[in-house]
Formats: sequence, structure tokens, C-alpha cells
Amino acid sequence: MKKIVVLGAGESGTGAAILAKCKGFDVFVSDMGDISPMYQALLDKHQIAWESGKHTTELILDANEVIKSPGIPLTAPLVQQLINQGTPVISEIEFAARYTRGKMICITGSNGKTTTTSLLFDMLRRAGLDVGLAGNIGNSLALQVAQEDHEYYVIELSSFQLDNCYDFKADIAILLNITPDHLDRYDHQFQNYVDAKFRITRNQTDKDAFIYWSEDPVINREIARIQPQATLYPFGSQQQNVAYTDGTQLIVAAHTHSLRMPLSEMSLKGKHNQYNSMAAGLAAQILNIHNDVIRESLQQFAGVDHRLQYIATIRGVRYINDSKATNVNSCWYALESMTTPTVLILGGTDKGNDYSEIDALVKEKCHTLIFMGKDNSKLIQHFEALGYSPNTSPVHRLSYISTHTLQDAVQAAYQAANHGDTVLLSPCCASFDLFKNYEDRGEQFSIAVRNL
Ligand code: ADP
Repeated sequence: MKKIVVLGAGESGTGAAILAKCKGFDVFVSDMGDISPMYQALLDKHQIAWESGKHTTELILDANEVIKSPGIPLTAPLVQQLINQGTPVISEIEFAARYTRGKMICITGSNGKTTTTSLLFDMLRRAGLDVGLAGNIGNSLALQVAQEDHEYYVIELSSFQLDNCYDFKADIAILLNITPDHLDRYDHQFQNYVDAKFRITRNQTDKDAFIYWSEDPVINREIARIQPQATLYPFGSQQQNVAYTDGTQLIVAAHTHSLRMPLSEMSLKGKHNQYNSMAAGLAAQILNIHNDVIRESLQQFAGVDHRLQYIATIRGVRYINDSKATNVNSCWYALESMTTPTVLILGGTDKGNDYSEIDALVKEKCHTLIFMGKDNSKLIQHFEALGYSPNTSPVHRLSYISTHTLQDAVQAAYQAANHGDTVLLSPCCASFDLFKNYEDRGEQFSIAVRNL
């Protein structure tokens, strides 16, 4: 019997192990860390052998094929050993796709994946299609294929999931944007990360669709270089795209029956969400979903938590949770969407940020900056150079307040904000200095705001 080893027992690894077991393989799961009790129980229920806190090398090297969780780097010594001895190392997505005839609609990019994936899923569900949501969100693709296979899958793919895809093909691929991220996993070579993102077009033919942001210089350069075989659907702010805006309307025209709707009717705000909506709208049109359904979804979609999420209005001040903005580029888009004077809360674990990208928007929109991190020195240095100074009086223009806890940050924002302002948590940074993760940061923020 063919032996399959699964490395890493999170959502994707556990799902892959269950699917492999259902398909009659001899399966062994190995995780160097702890396996959560929920996944242990699932593996036991399916009588799958597993180990945690160690890797038994002989068992792993004996596999015919290895399914690697996206969290494990390709450079891990064990993975290198497998590759060197010629054992195929694949991703859960690659494995699961072998066992379904479902249409694959895949979304990648540096920012906007979860929003676009959730929005497109909403459109397909409203249209009454049998659709599963997979990848970085919800249940793994493998588990769904094993237990409740669907006719369509909307899949959020990170570069790590794409890394070990070989025969996998997206029927519709969406590439939202590419800005430097996760370079520590790519030998600090931006091109390696770009190559991983472009694997989303691998194996596509002219019967498949490739939807992409046409104003991204990196994407354009790569398209010219690799000339994807798929039919191209560019979107952007200019009229030569198949989806664009004319300043007041969103136009989506994958077919002759184009969709036009006023930007003011869209539930998701901000330029970045116009792009996400164009991408989702194009994919939905390619799947022949009626424009009325797409329009209804764009009007009613409630958004995803921690992404420009409205929390409350207190004493005339709106509080917005954009905790998922863990890099400078996503904060740029959050600021771009602000229509009132803004108090910006930012800071956390800096991943080598260059804040100058947001200088102009910060100066235009933010009278007060609240720094929230264990170490705020880099923020202080940068924004002092931009003309911000320590807050000494409530009417001081362009001031900053340095805090080290969320409670203090929210209190400081409350004091600094004037009637009609917005308080925006859009940190530019990872959260691990003060929080478990970005969800924890966003939830604590929401609670603190509601307790004001
Ligand atoms: P991802 O899943 O790629 O991390 P999300 O949809 O979770 O993306 O959004 C993360 C953050 O990125 C949001 O808080 C928002 O500020 C920003 N963002 C969303 N869409 C885009 C986009 N198309 N371009 C740039 N930034 C975006």
C-alpha cells in the first residue's frame, strides 16, 4: 500500500490525512510541535497514526509521497532530505485537487485575499451554486473533498500553499497585487516570492481565466516575461480594463452584459475594496452569475472582521478596527479610504517597515498618531522627522502619543479625537509583541472601544 506522510497537523494537514485515509493510503502524521486536542481527536476518530513533539525520521523518509503543511519552510532539514532522496513533497491543495472535479477559483496576492475570497464566495452562494470556501479560510480543501465535495471551490491561496503545487490548475485565478512580504521564507529574494505567486497561473490553458490588477508593475513585468496561456482579465482604474471605475461608477464587463453600479452603493469602502470587488465581480461573471446577484452581493456583503471593520460611534467619533493591516501597504489603503480627520493607532512588531510610504496620507488625514508597541522608538523617530511632536495639549496639531498597552492606546485616542473624527486601528505591524495574533488585537480593541 502506498505510504503517505503528512508533515504538520493543523487544518490543512489533518484534512489531508483524513482524505488520504479515505482514499485507502497508509497514512502517518508527524508534527514537531503540539497538535491541538481537536485535531488529535479527529485523527484518532479516523484511526490515523500520529506523533507530536518530534519527527521519526525513518518513518518519514520511508514515505512514497509527503504532504507538507504551508507553515513548514522548504528549507527545513527534513524537507531538504526528502527532496534530495527524490520523495515528492506536495501541498494539501495539490493532493486534494486530485480527488475532486469541482471548479477551482483561486485567489492570491499580498493583500486583499481574504476579503476577495469571502466576497466571491458570497456571490456564488447567493447565486445558489454548490460552493465550498477553502484555503486559508474555513475547513481545508482536503477535508471538504473527503466529506462534502462541492461543484465549486473558492480558495484563498498564500504563496506557501502555492509553493508545492505542481499539477494543480486553477480554472479561474485571481492575482490581486504583489508587494514584498514573507521575504524571510524566500531567501530574501523578492523574485522567489513573485515566482511563488505566479504559480497560480501554472497549467492554465486559454479556456481558463487569469484576473489581475493591471496597474501593478511587478505583475505586468511578469506577464510580459512568462506570457500566461490563460485568457486575461485585467482590472484597474482605467477604461481599457475589463473592470474599472470612472470615478463614480464601478463597471465590470467580462461579457457584453456589463454591470454598472454607483460606488456609493457598495458596502465595502475604500479604493482597495473597489479592486477586490472588480476581481470578485469578474470571476462571478465568468461563471455566468447574473449581474443582479453580483450587484446585491456588492451592496450587502458585510465585510470580514478585522478589515476596516466598523465597531461603534462614541460621542460622534467612529472607531474602525483594521487590525489585519499588518504591513505598511495595507495601512496606506485604509488611510486612503478615510473621509474624516483621523486618529491613527499603529505599531507592534516591525518587519523592517518603511513608513515613508504612508507619509503623505498620514500628514493629510491624521492630526494625532497613537503608537502602540513594546518599542516605539522607530515610529517616534520617523514621525518626528515628518513634523509630529509629543502631544502636550489637546489642541496641538500633528502630535503623537506613545503607549505600550491597548487600554492606554484606546484611552489616548478617545482623548485626542474630536467630534466627527475617526479612530483607526491600522497598525502596519505584526501583533506578536503585545497580542496572540491580529485577531486577538482586533478583539481586544473592539472590547476596549465598547467599554469607553
Ligand atoms: P489578506 O488575506 O491578503 O491578508 P485581507 O483581505 O485580510 O487580505 O486584508 C488585509 C488588509 O489589507 C486589510 O485590512 C486592508 O487594509 C488591506 N487590503 C485589502 N485589500 C487590499 C488590496 N486590494 N490592496 C491593498 N491592500 C488591501
